[in-house]
Amino acid sequence: MAHVVIPDAESVLDKEFSVLDKGFVRLVDYLGGDERIVAAARVSYGKGTKTVREDQGLINYLMRNGHTSPFEQVILTFHVKLPIFVARQWVRHRTARLNEMSGRYSVMKDEFYTPTESTLRTQSAVNKQGRSEETLSVEDAGAVIATLEAGQKDAYAHYQAMLDKNLAREVARIGLPLSLYTEWYWQMDLNNLFHFLRLRLDEHAQWEIRQYAAIMADLTRRVAPLAYAAFEKYRLSAVSLSTESVEWLKERMPKDDDVPREIREKFKLK
Ligand SMILES: Cc1cc2nc3c(=O)[nH]c(=O)nc-3n(C[C@H](O)[C@H](O)[C@H](O)COP(=O)(O)OP(=O)(O)OC[C@H]3O[C@@H](n4cnc5c(N)ncnc54)[C@H](O)[C@@H]3O)c2cc1C
Repeated sequence: MAHVVIPDAESVLDKEFSVLDKGFVRLVDYLGGDERIVAAARVSYGKGTKTVREDQGLINYLMRNGHTSPFEQVILTFHVKLPIFVARQWVRHRTARLNEMSGRYSVMKDEFYTPTESTLRTQSAVNKQGRSEETLSVEDAGAVIATLEAGQKDAYAHYQAMLDKNLAREVARIGLPLSLYTEWYWQMDLNNLFHFLRLRLDEHAQWEIRQYAAIMADLTRRVAPLAYAAFEKYRLSAVSLSTESVEWLKERMPKDDDVPREIREKFKLK
């Protein structure tokens, strides 16, 4: 099967999509798309598909049943500019191939992330890792931003002063804060990218990384729209339930044929 060219993906290739105050995501390249997933699955199953509807059916089947390897035949490469605290969360996704700018090799730019007032919230009482819906007062928000900016300015001035003394860049950088921007090329196959997106689009993920995930989700949808639709349907919006919850639901489930087949099968209803 020839190289797959997807006009919708081509139209956004190399374009910078802004994220946060100074960051961006850029789709550098892609390999394969829905067509490649279908072709790879056809090699395994030995059956062909012809129409978009049939392709969607096959892709849905693969997604629903955890036949994930055909999705690994599709690869996306992104160029991302992101604050270091976001990069630290992101880098936990181990199946990526990445190259990051080096603070040992280059002088880091004077570019820091400063949150907007509306994103400054109080500590959540229910989610120990997250923020609540409650914003800070205008005065408090202004003071937080001023404090952050003063710290960033100071840290960068110290960095600059140490470089001026010809201190090695790899040491001079160690006092720079987590809000400093970095950049990387980041490549991942579609199966693992869906895993990344499911975790990082979720409301439990930090707001800042979610902004990146949202742009990447849109770019991914352009590369493989049928696979993305299946991901939305069977992974992103799907729920997993404990045994107790399943039992609770089973007891209350009607016993007639109105119950969709998927539910009857999953819940092992007669
Ligand atoms: C909301 C949220 C909060 C988090 N909080 C914390 C926290 O407080 N502290 C913390 O340390 N981390 C935290 N994490 C990170 C989290 O624990 C995972 O490290 C991260 O989400 C990556 O997930 P993963 O390992 O499934 O995915 P990936 O590394 O992207 O891997 C994808 C899949 O590949 C397989 N895989 C990859 N590498 C291996 C391997 N070496 N061996 C076996 N299988 C492998 C696994 O099936 C894995 O699910 C948090 C993540 C989220 C989304």
